[in-house]
Amino acid sequence: MNAKCPQCHSDAAMEGKIYNQIDYVNPPAYFRPNSVPFYAIFKTNVQLQNNFFACPFCGFVWSKINNQDLQRYSINKSAA
Ligand SMILES: [Zn+2]
Repeated sequence: MNAKCPQCHSDAAMEGKIYNQIDYVNPPAYFRPNSVPFYAIFKTNVQLQNNFFACPFCGFVWSKINNQDLQRYSINKSAA
């Protein structure tokens, strides 16, 4: 399935997965906002599903994250 690139707006973006090892055995990746202190240990990361898109024209790569998990960081940040 092709998708529209959010950066250059081409229709040629390709869907795929990201791997860091050739044997495809790798732990899940996590997104950690820069606003989270380095010493925080509980509920600090939001796990990424390994479904990404990449644009062959501009090289932009993107995915989707659980927005409800991510919203707790902006809520905590605004309360601080
Ligand atoms: Zn693009």
